[in-house]
Amino acid sequence: MLYHSTNNQSEKVNFKEATIRGQAPDKGLYFPDSIPALSKEFLSSFKQKSKAQIAFEVIRPYVGDTITEDDLFQICEHTVGFDFPLIKVTDSISSLELFHGPTLAFKDVGARFMSRCLGYFSKSNSRKITVLVATSGDTGSAVANGFLGVEGVDVIILYPSGKVSKIQELQLTTLGQNITALEVQGTFDDCQQMVKQAFADTELNEKLFLTSANSINVARWLPQQFYYFYALQQWQHDEPPIICVPSGNFGNICAGLLAAVSGLPVKHFVAACNSNDVFTKYLLSGKLHSQQSVATISNAMDVGNPSNLVRLLELFSNDFSRIKNFLSSYSINDEETSETISHVYKNYNYTLDPHGAVAFASLEKYLSENSSSKGLFLETAHPVKFSDVVEKSTGEQIEFPDLMKHLLHLKKKSVMMEAKYDALKSFLSN
Ligand SMILES: *Cc1c(COP(=O)(O)O)cnc(C)c1O
Repeated sequence: MLYHSTNNQSEKVNFKEATIRGQAPDKGLYFPDSIPALSKEFLSSFKQKSKAQIAFEVIRPYVGDTITEDDLFQICEHTVGFDFPLIKVTDSISSLELFHGPTLAFKDVGARFMSRCLGYFSKSNSRKITVLVATSGDTGSAVANGFLGVEGVDVIILYPSGKVSKIQELQLTTLGQNITALEVQGTFDDCQQMVKQAFADTELNEKLFLTSANSINVARWLPQQFYYFYALQQWQHDEPPIICVPSGNFGNICAGLLAAVSGLPVKHFVAACNSNDVFTKYLLSGKLHSQQSVATISNAMDVGNPSNLVRLLELFSNDFSRIKNFLSSYSINDEETSETISHVYKNYNYTLDPHGAVAFASLEKYLSENSSSKGLFLETAHPVKFSDVVEKSTGEQIEFPDLMKHLLHLKKKSVMMEAKYDALKSFLSN
């Protein structure tokens, strides 16, 4: 399998090169040159297979011969070593809980897979690899956790000061070892811009072997397909589901779309957005306009210029009518998000986090406008990660999971930084 750049100005590379580089030299995103079709045999038998086996069979064509089959299987086993339960919330809506990993958010899957792949590839790389990553919250913690102690790899995380939740901040600033947190006095978009500039800086790239761990990286993006298979494995109805994905940078939903284009039966996708509604507007007008990001209570989705939209367009060969037929999108504001948390808690005794709430509300709208179907949404984070917001809406305190209790005793360690590329460059150069 080769990957081309979405800008088409760079040479094609294999999975190893695409993983190590992160972004293509022409600043496009790597995209599989041909999309493997799932075999009939796999589609009729995967429901009986183990999680690791499914992951292995789904990802193998994308990895090609860059990792041996035994090693790849082990990486898959490690990646999906926790539960992905599908929980019925109402008669027509179920929740695929993706927060049972070590940092309580779905990004654990991509981060664990990528960190193992990069650790594997760094063994044959003479230079130390520096992973540079911008985060609106969950990416940082998942990446930090996934890479902690991986030899030959240093991780530098940029996060917007004061714009991530307390638990998220502790998760990404308390690990130490090969993980450094930079606290940027700006927005997530500023952080992302600084990271992009670092990758484009030839002088810097001569000094350091830089790569990204954002969903730009194929090794983080592609394994996100796995849980769509686990959703189908647990789906009890004859008709395929409507799947609603709370979306920010659109990596997650693009992975689901990739699985569907490969043959996984899904009836329709709904992209759930908060007030950052670039994509919702795109589906109405056919025109893509990036916007300044606005801060919301579902902060992991506060993205004004979603990187993975180029992949989405490429998946559908830029055919707007195909995209519109297979995808819907809603924008849910903070007030509706809080009301949804409150209403779902009171009526169904289920506690949503703000991102899951944006998805629940969007799916509810879609189902009411297209009566008769059943759907599921991805619950992408544990509500405790956003306890301030959630407790205000439910009036109940959320119990702190044991897994997280130790964090409260640790001391935050970050490097304050202005939202200027020069500041980042001089930090990295030293
Ligand atoms: C990252 C994140 C999202 C958005 O996922 P994308 O792949 O960027 O669209 C949604 N919810 C949570 C909790 C997240 O951490």
